[in-house]
Amino acid sequence: MTTTPDLSGRIALVTGASRGIGYFIAKGLAAAGAHVIAVARTVGGLEELDDEIKAQGGGGATLVPLDIADMAGLDRLGGSIHERWGKLDILFANAGVLGVIAPVGHVEAKVFEKVMTVNVTSTWRLIRSVDPLLRASDAGRAILMSSGAAHSARAFWGPYAASKAAVEALGRSWADETKNMPLRVNCVNPGATRTAMRAQAMPGEDPAKLPHPSEVAGKILHLASPGLTETGQIYDVPKGRFVEYRMPE
Ligand code: NDP
Repeated sequence: MTTTPDLSGRIALVTGASRGIGYFIAKGLAAAGAHVIAVARTVGGLEELDDEIKAQGGGGATLVPLDIADMAGLDRLGGSIHERWGKLDILFANAGVLGVIAPVGHVEAKVFEKVMTVNVTSTWRLIRSVDPLLRASDAGRAILMSSGAAHSARAFWGPYAASKAAVEALGRSWADETKNMPLRVNCVNPGATRTAMRAQAMPGEDPAKLPHPSEVAGKILHLASPGLTETGQIYDVPKGRFVEYRMPE
């Protein structure tokens, strides 16, 4: 099911909204009627998004230029959302970094630490900041961006693969904690997508052969639907379905 839901009046937070998959998720959520809180460091990318959202109609955007490695900044963000809206309906924790493609034993400490900080610690800190706001929604939806690398753990992808496996474990624990509430928490593997990150990982690849991020985003938006029932699952975009994970007994 990949139909875009009606999200009129819903409040959505998207990290990594300045380019790539997150940009088109933010644009798609706004087109579906949501008001999008768009987070990234690059102000130019956020302003371009804002222009496109204004031009297309639907929900508007609030731009938040923020480095998600700024943990106190993530705490403040939750506080600001609480003050302005008192709840959050949709979280797309999408921002991420690749680090480096290199043998595990050759990775520099500062690169490893940055991947873990941006992909894992920031995701946890963001969850901690907005968890009460998502619980305050009548149909809170959290979507954490993972990767096939979390499972395939290919040679030279060590730090990134480890970070995405950690994101999935975090998301599944959170989903189990909240399974008796309206909140639904799922992860996504978007599959290979024509973005700056993919070009960094696979410089020899022809980007024209990969799906555009707008196409991939269109296949992810249904996870924000108030009608969604699944929680603690991984939605695999290339397979077009949830990949079954067993919830704890
Ligand atoms: P891009 O590199 O195109 O975009 C990454 C986004 O994350 C940008 O908006 C960037 O914004 C933001 N970001 C990175 N670091 C920070 C930071 N410290 N603070 C705030 N924002 C930050 O990547 P993709 O669109 O390809 O990736 C999006 C997600 O999808 C990632 O989690 C990635 O791991 C995942 N993914 C991507 C695949 C692909 O083939 N493209 C495959 C599998 C998973 P800015 O630089 O402006 O801060």
